[in-house]
Amino acid sequence: MVESPMESIYLDHNATTPVRTEVFEAMEPFFRDRFGNASSIHRFGQDARSAVEEARAQVAGLVNGRPGEVYFTSGGTESDNLALKGIAYARRERGRHIITTKIEHSAVLNSCAFLEREGYEVTYLPVDEYGRVDPGQVADALTNRTILISIMHANNEIGTVQPVDEIGKIARDRGVCFHTDAVQSAGKLPIDVKAFHVDLLSLSGHKIYGPKGVGAIYIRKGVEIEPIAHGGHHENDVRSGTENTVGIVGLGKAAELAASEREHEYRHLAEMRDALEGRILDKIEGVRVNGHPEWRLPGTLNMSFPGAEGESLIMSLDLEGIAVSTGSACSSGAIEPSHVLLALGSAPRTALGSVRFSFGRDNIMQDVDYVLNRLPGIVSRLRELSSLPDEAGYMYSSTVMDHFRSPRNVGDLPNADGVGNAGNPISGNTIALYLKIAEGTVTDARFRTFGCAASIAASSMVTEWVIGRTIEEAASIENDTIAVVLGGLPPTKMHCSAMAADGVRAAIEDYRTRKGVNTKA
Ligand code: PLP
Repeated sequence: MVESPMESIYLDHNATTPVRTEVFEAMEPFFRDRFGNASSIHRFGQDARSAVEEARAQVAGLVNGRPGEVYFTSGGTESDNLALKGIAYARRERGRHIITTKIEHSAVLNSCAFLEREGYEVTYLPVDEYGRVDPGQVADALTNRTILISIMHANNEIGTVQPVDEIGKIARDRGVCFHTDAVQSAGKLPIDVKAFHVDLLSLSGHKIYGPKGVGAIYIRKGVEIEPIAHGGHHENDVRSGTENTVGIVGLGKAAELAASEREHEYRHLAEMRDALEGRILDKIEGVRVNGHPEWRLPGTLNMSFPGAEGESLIMSLDLEGIAVSTGSACSSGAIEPSHVLLALGSAPRTALGSVRFSFGRDNIMQDVDYVLNRLPGIVSRLRELSSLPDEAGYMYSSTVMDHFRSPRNVGDLPNADGVGNAGNPISGNTIALYLKIAEGTVTDARFRTFGCAASIAASSMVTEWVIGRTIEEAASIENDTIAVVLGGLPPTKMHCSAMAADGVRAAIEDYRTRKGVNTKA
């Protein structure tokens, strides 16, 4: 048995939420007294039926749909599967192309992978560094074979909110079905199926203080779907199986409360999240916030703590009584970097050092204070222990790595106006820098370098930097400037930026000498 800490602070509401008292009380009678099967004609059955229909209206109210457009499922995973496979099968004669993004929940991504094995073609759109999809790219990806676009409303790991209304408009104009997974946004953001132009939308009970194992899918009237579970024609033949009355009643009550309290909830969550974010950034160095600064769920804060490993962070926090998560709950058993953070361009090891704090309605400001009391010590202890020199798992910044992987301006210039050699072959680093100069301005530059990653990156960077500068500006380049533009260099590598600066100065010196000779001639 794990020893209980004094405090117990739950900051993992994107993984699941506790059932609210009101929800539990609404569900309770349906376990025993009101146990009827909603398909039965007698009064027990009709009692259950009326409860199910009341819940349907409550869920419809949360998304501004009509009750007849809401179908109950076993949760978000099933709703996503039904949307993807149900549309793919129903529209297979029209085309077999689906558009989604790289950062969807695994319920969508794995449904897509399944459909690919069935012969469907799937386009996985990239996202920007904040996790947003460009609606222009959605439009560009459409073909006359596209049958479905599935793009989530808000991401479970980083909270980034997508421009679903714009995407929905593009889909509607082109006659393509649009599905959005609103499992995380429900109860936190306004959801309006009409304004979003969505045809299908997924919801889950346990993310909105309802029970686990129950969810719903909105399917716009007139949109044909092929069921994936065949049976007794329940739920208008969209989803067979005796209705989970207890769960459905709980989901309905949770949806009703979520709709009526959403605005207050938003302010409460955003206040705590912003306080935690601001104070962590103040107190802990080198932290990065993942997700969009504005277009983000109110209670979600995903941060990378380079140099500290994610699982160790989660466990250290847990020992202090703070429950948080790394990546999505579904993948937290596997030690793989989050596909969402990788899609934002995060280095794999940075992604492994990320933590998601997700606030809920019962959290209070003191919870933020408590986290702030513990977290800085934990991060610095893990960083001290860490064998990782920096965020990328290398001793270099991402800019250095970028120049090292894809060096610019490699080679020489046969008619160079100035050539500079610098470095020391004995210590292993040498640069030859070639410049073309016209009317006192550098017009082209090339380099050849023998040396470590930092010296190659510094050489590459410096060729980009000098082009377009006057020879006076170029000659005054400082070692420190190169290091700063490269996003920093370890102290032991400052001789590499010095070598690149020396190369530029030597090339200009050579040019001046040649020019002097030419002038005299
Ligand atoms: N979609 C998103 C965005 C989620 O966050 C989750 C759960 O983490 C799901 C779908 C799956 O929902 P459920 O747990 O109800 O199957």
